[in-house]
Amino acid sequence: MQHVVILGAGFGGLELATRLSEAVPDAARVTLIDKTDSFVFGYSKLDVMFGRLGADDVRMYYRDITKPAVEFRQETIESIDPVTRRVVTSGGTYDADVLVVALGADLDPAATPGLIEGGYEFYTEEGAFALRDILPTFDRGDAIISVLGPFFKCPAAPFEAAMMLHDLLEQRGKRDATTIKVLSPMPKPIPISPEASGGILAGLAERGIEFWPESVITALDPATKTASLRDGREISYDLFLGVPVHRAPAVVEASGLTVDGWIPVDHTTFATSFPDVYAVGDVTSAPVPRVGVIAEGEAGTVADVLINRLRGDDAPDAYKGRATCYIEFGGREVARFDVDFLSGPSPSGTFNDPSLAIADAKKEFGATRRRRWFET
Ligand SMILES: Cc1cc2nc3c(=O)[nH]c(=O)nc-3n(C[C@H](O)[C@H](O)[C@H](O)COP(=O)(O)OP(=O)(O)OC[C@H]3O[C@@H](n4cnc5c(N)ncnc54)[C@H](O)[C@@H]3O)c2cc1C
Repeated sequence: MQHVVILGAGFGGLELATRLSEAVPDAARVTLIDKTDSFVFGYSKLDVMFGRLGADDVRMYYRDITKPAVEFRQETIESIDPVTRRVVTSGGTYDADVLVVALGADLDPAATPGLIEGGYEFYTEEGAFALRDILPTFDRGDAIISVLGPFFKCPAAPFEAAMMLHDLLEQRGKRDATTIKVLSPMPKPIPISPEASGGILAGLAERGIEFWPESVITALDPATKTASLRDGREISYDLFLGVPVHRAPAVVEASGLTVDGWIPVDHTTFATSFPDVYAVGDVTSAPVPRVGVIAEGEAGTVADVLINRLRGDDAPDAYKGRATCYIEFGGREVARFDVDFLSGPSPSGTFNDPSLAIADAKKEFGATRRRRWFET
């Protein structure tokens, strides 16, 4: 019996635990560790922030996991030794035969001076949920949605937030008294796909939302409500919604697993440079975007590697980096973007215009995960 210890019960950790429990419950014992008591889809943060759903509607409690091979522990990971595969948590010590790091990316609002005092962020659960009560008080002036670091999860989310803000303001009859701008360090919304970028830019233009590409805000002055850009420009705001700087969780940085801030992996198997230590999801520097569906696919690849090894089968196919992303356009319409990052010579994608039918498919996507991960 192999003891597989999975650190982090997000998109990656939940998928891996589920696959192992389904396929090899008699050969693998899984310990799944997370500091929180529940999982929330990244996109559900927007649903709560814009008042579509309540916080209780979107939480999935880990106590409901009743998979035969999986034991969930709500503990904070305090140290990781990738050489001995020993993990120390707030609740004990675990010695793993196979260790999988799926701890995601931490958000660092303090890295942008003035953000905490003079703006809001919507990437943490707390930040997004708190905005539910703030947004209805924004009646007039200039809203800025800004990406504050070079790497960030869900490249579409800032644009989704802008279009959902547009809707909220229209519903409240306040759109004419307001402006909305999105600032990003990237040259286009989705640089690998002119088609998806074009679709998003058209959606912004239809709604009178400005896009400032290659624009990085470095500091906010809460007293004057002015944001400073790296290139010397300044911009005033009345409502500032930031995507904070991302970094690997401190416990991962301290473990020696990172190089240049993130965990390098063999992106065909998600093995790290340490034997029997794997890493998936936002915490790695794999050449794919940081999104939940990609973390899920990576976890599926690690599951295939481990299952085949336990069964004595050949190594599985390499990870292809294929995924379907759903993009909110407001008004309940959702677009679909199918990406393929690693199977061809360069990444490619297909964009499907927003529709209510795709919105239904997104709902089904969430319901399927909720059933698979949380129900036996
Ligand atoms: C606003 C927003 C919208 C998004 N929309 C989408 C979308 O539509 N589609 C999509 O695919 N992705 C979306 N994402 C991105 C998606 O949420 C992430 O990419 C995904 O969750 C990454 O999965 P992961 O398993 O790597 O990490 P996570 O899901 O972040 O899980 C990491 C887990 O590790 C735990 N953890 C961290 N440190 C410790 C510690 N020291 N001790 C114990 N536990 C710890 C955390 O509590 C967390 O549960 C969105 C994100 C945001 C913020």
